[in-house]
Amino acid sequence: MQSFGVIGNPIAHSLSPVIHNFLFSYFKIQAHYQKLHIPSQEHLKSTLLSLNGANITLPYKEVGFDLCDEVFGIAKEIGAVNTVLHQDGKLTGFNTDAFGFWECIKEIPMQNALIFGAGGSAKAIALILQKQGIDVTIHNRTKERLQIFINQGFEVGIKDKNYDLLINATSAGMDQVSLPLEKECLKHLMQGAKIAFDLIYPQSKDITTIQKFKSFLHSREDTAFVRFARECHIRGQDGLDMLLYQALYAFEIFCNQQYPFEELKGLFYNA
Ligand code: NDP
Repeated sequence: MQSFGVIGNPIAHSLSPVIHNFLFSYFKIQAHYQKLHIPSQEHLKSTLLSLNGANITLPYKEVGFDLCDEVFGIAKEIGAVNTVLHQDGKLTGFNTDAFGFWECIKEIPMQNALIFGAGGSAKAIALILQKQGIDVTIHNRTKERLQIFINQGFEVGIKDKNYDLLINATSAGMDQVSLPLEKECLKHLMQGAKIAFDLIYPQSKDITTIQKFKSFLHSREDTAFVRFARECHIRGQDGLDMLLYQALYAFEIFCNQQYPFEELKGLFYNA
């Protein structure tokens, strides 16, 4: 039996095991996927080496990058991995967040975007948007973390202009109430935007089956950022579709099998 998992801190809310365990069973692959809480980064390498493959979530995507023996694709430029394959003692890293995010917003006409956050996912999103010719500005609570974005040619700090796309790539909102920016300032930005995209998705600790996933989705509340977007009368989208897309890309890396997004979405979203 192969063993996979998602590693992070916190991790209890992760929906990844339901998605991957469904895919293993659909393709009749003898494997299991679990949540792995590690309190500090010293445990990351041994945990990765104990598995056949893993997803890494906050706050370990950047340290995960440093631990890999080899890194492929856009992850090299991002400097953060969310997917790691372990073969014969060798760790190979990938980043599927960037493509997962792009799949969600690629149909929206836009010229510029403002990202809140400077962690692993902010880097992934900033780079994929830049590659598509979209002007990207980064805002982060801790200014020291912005230097790496400046070095890569991104604008930093909020300017007095309209941004078509506002993205919450912070963990503010995982408590279901916090926003990444002070309310008045965020309201002003939302009034000039087309869409507010929250990487955070609705959280629940008890989802272990597709049935529970579905009933949770039916009764779920908006994330804090999406709720605020609606209060400001603009479109808000949470990170659930992105989660499904990045999981499908990761599964393809783990098992070399593809499953269609619309079918996965139908399975999880429809009653
Ligand atoms: P990191 O830990 O690497 O970065 C966290 C970021 O959040 C930092 O920029 C940090 O700022 C900022 N932050 C934390 N708390 C606050 C706050 N109260 N106010 C303002 N800023 C804050 O995390 P990741 O980049 O890995 O993930 C960020 C979020 O994106 C998480 O919520 C994660 O769950 C979500 N995500 C969702 C995915 C999906 O598929 N839907 C995929 C990937 C991530 P500072 O530098 O000042 O500490």
